[in-house]
Amino acid sequence: MVFSGRKRVALISVHGDPAIEIGKEEAGGQNVYVRHVGEALALQGWQVDMFTRRTSPEQSAVVQHTPHCRTIRFTAGPQRFVPRDEIFEFLPEFVQAFLEFQQQQETPYQLIHSNYWLSSWVGMELSRKLAIPQVHTYHSLGAVKYKSISTIPLIAKTRLAVEKKCLETVDRVVATSPQEQEHMRSLVSAHGKVDIIPCGTRIDHFGTIAQAEARHTLGIKPDEKVVLYVGRFDPRKGIETLVRAVHRCQARHTESLRLIIGGGSRPGYSDGDERERIEAIVAELGITAITHFPGRLSHEDLPTYYAAADVCVVPSHYEPFGLVTIEAMACGTPVIGSDVGGLQFTVVPEETGLLAPPKDEVAFATALDRILLNPDWRNQLGQAARQRVETMFSWHGVASQLGHLYEALIEEQQLQESSVDASSKSLAQVSA
Ligand code: UDP
Repeated sequence: MVFSGRKRVALISVHGDPAIEIGKEEAGGQNVYVRHVGEALALQGWQVDMFTRRTSPEQSAVVQHTPHCRTIRFTAGPQRFVPRDEIFEFLPEFVQAFLEFQQQQETPYQLIHSNYWLSSWVGMELSRKLAIPQVHTYHSLGAVKYKSISTIPLIAKTRLAVEKKCLETVDRVVATSPQEQEHMRSLVSAHGKVDIIPCGTRIDHFGTIAQAEARHTLGIKPDEKVVLYVGRFDPRKGIETLVRAVHRCQARHTESLRLIIGGGSRPGYSDGDERERIEAIVAELGITAITHFPGRLSHEDLPTYYAAADVCVVPSHYEPFGLVTIEAMACGTPVIGSDVGGLQFTVVPEETGLLAPPKDEVAFATALDRILLNPDWRNQLGQAARQRVETMFSWHGVASQLGHLYEALIEEQQLQESSVDASSKSLAQVSA
């Protein structure tokens, strides 16, 4: 296939398949980011191929999303779900598959944009072998993550070394918030080039439904107080803090309080342990009757859930960016987030929501009370939240910033190549 006139970029996301269902097992923000960045770049004139690992023999090798944007799945390791901490050993196979694929193409890729540390390793190999620039987005930093968990995985040493090498050597690292950039500098390395380009959201998709209509669709009464969580079931997401906070403030809202915890797979999947743990805490606290687990929510249904809620809570222990935050804000719903990472960038305390120290159920309960007991203020926060997302976090804006960065790096590379050509010609003339 020839893609006339279009510059070609390869987005690499080894473990985060941009074409699969989001919200279950390990599929979350990275999958959404890669998919929407890819589609938005294609609308802006790029030919975008997104590369990922095949996790089942039933999956198609190629998924065409839009005329100039597709997902390509390589076999690297077994064709089944493998937790991300166990994927490293299959990466050389992924690199080999990419090189073979590229050989069959008429036009070479001009730039690689890798996502997460596993893909940064793949990207560094390819960038060196193919002599093309590499941009990298971490999505999560080992150096920060390992501070917030008690069991450090065996892969940690390798991950930390790869993340350091990546920051110090790739052409540009993209931090999605000033807080992430600060973490890179203080915990990973003082060297390397970093640009800040945030994550985005679909502002035309999130924010089109009014609260009354959304509640009618979901069968929620107008006078109920609805607290919403959306995301993966993972201990780092801090769902326990939310559940305990809701239990604390329950008495002040009588029986009209409702907690919806959206996300997660069916029993038997890798996130099942955390879901069972949370369900057990809910039962132990005696809030089963007001707590609902609707399971994985599709992006078609999510605008209705966000709009129906009085407040969306993102209680993560660590959050590099947090797409759920800007999705809820785009729907005019204020967010109570942990005072960490990207949430300090997206949520403006007292203007678009509130921040509370991570793991602090008392502080979360106080924040919930403040918003739930003041409906007018809640609406003001929600309106300001929507405005902030419109101004700062559309995918179109994000992709155009990335596109400019790619163009600049490709141009730099071409200049370097032409100056190398010129100097080898003049050397040849001298020796002649
Ligand atoms: N998500 C979803 N359905 C669910 C749960 C989550 O579509 O049931 C999506 C959510 O809308 C968001 C992404 O998964 O786009 C989660 O991204 P975030 O950055 O908040 O968290 P991560 O998963 O990257 O830690």
